[in-house]
Amino acid sequence: MIVENLRRLVKQGCSDQFNEETNRKIVVINLFAFVGVSITLVLGLRAFTASDFPLSLTLFVATIVFGISQQLHLRIDGAVGRILSMNLLLTCLMGLMAILTVTGGKSGTGPLWIYIVPPVAMFFGGFRRGLISIFGFTLLISVLLFFPDGRLLMTEYTFEFKTRLIYSFMTVTFLSAFYEYSRQRTFETMQKLSEQFEQQALHDPLTRLPNRRGIQQHLNFELARIDRNGRPFSVVLADIDHFKLINDNHGHDNGDNVLIRISKLFVQRLRKQDQVARWGGEEFLFVLPETPEANAVILADKIRQTLAHNPILFDGKRIEVTASFGVCEVNADVELDRALSLADKALYKAKSLGRNCVVAATQLSD
Ligand code: GH3
Ligand code: MG
Ligand code: MG
Repeated sequence: MIVENLRRLVKQGCSDQFNEETNRKIVVINLFAFVGVSITLVLGLRAFTASDFPLSLTLFVATIVFGISQQLHLRIDGAVGRILSMNLLLTCLMGLMAILTVTGGKSGTGPLWIYIVPPVAMFFGGFRRGLISIFGFTLLISVLLFFPDGRLLMTEYTFEFKTRLIYSFMTVTFLSAFYEYSRQRTFETMQKLSEQFEQQALHDPLTRLPNRRGIQQHLNFELARIDRNGRPFSVVLADIDHFKLINDNHGHDNGDNVLIRISKLFVQRLRKQDQVARWGGEEFLFVLPETPEANAVILADKIRQTLAHNPILFDGKRIEVTASFGVCEVNADVELDRALSLADKALYKAKSLGRNCVVAATQLSD
């Protein structure tokens, strides 16, 4: 029960729509504000019961500021709210540390808390901004500690204590910065890898065209568009004619090269809004948004002619390639699966009519 409430508190403001890094920052803001509120409240109460009123007042003010910082990112949407929360938390923390250093806190132990600053500054600001804010803080603490005759201090520290405090603080800063730098690099590498995997999963490695899974996203988008504005789109299935013969006559590697060249030709010939995917071995699927069947037939025939009139040349060889096409419109009455199956039937009719031609699904009943 307590664990569940704590979990909810720490995750306040997180969302599935944010990326991991943003959610991580939100968790750190909540966690840090919670710890800040708890510690300053307890220490404030102790100082109060010990009749140390200036210290207790300082700590209570910090409690309120920590509480407000946590609320800021919940009340103000977007990155602005988070940046305000983080800056206020960090400023409050640094201010508190400066006051503890000046007053000495309880029996001169105040400065011992400053080691919290480097990891928190790195958490919130990342490597670069974290370093800048820690540099500013180090400067402030050094001025407070080493001002001639200790005139900025309300307590006394030995010279050795002050120098060792700064040295050890710089060591912790260095370690925190190094840790944050490695963490950021690892995160960036992981993100790149995950993008690469995503790209590989959605594309065919030979032709670099989208594969079945890849084109599915475009199909879903077009289906949603039909739901919105009722405008149909068309699918075209193309199958290379006698591809087995091309493999037999020129070798499998040259067959692969032919597929690569054809893919490039298709992409060049298409309009900007159209998509082509490798549907299977030597079969391709075209998705033509906002295109009724009649226009899709015209476009498919242009692609057919381009292919037929541009033999593929390499290694001094000239390979004539043609393809057959089946076209079908997807609309409110013909759903996608049925349209794909009709396009397939139209394609096989095109094969039976002698290949190198385009057949529309509406011609099938003839
Ligand atoms: P049709 O005109 O009836 O379509 O004849 P076809 O020879 O093209 O059809 P079939 O289905 O008999 O043969 C398809 C061939 O495509 C057989 C297969 O080895 C070849 N193929 C499929 N994928 C690849 C590939 O990635 N690379 C190469 N080189 N060949 C492939
Ligand atoms: Mg085939
Ligand atoms: Mg074929």
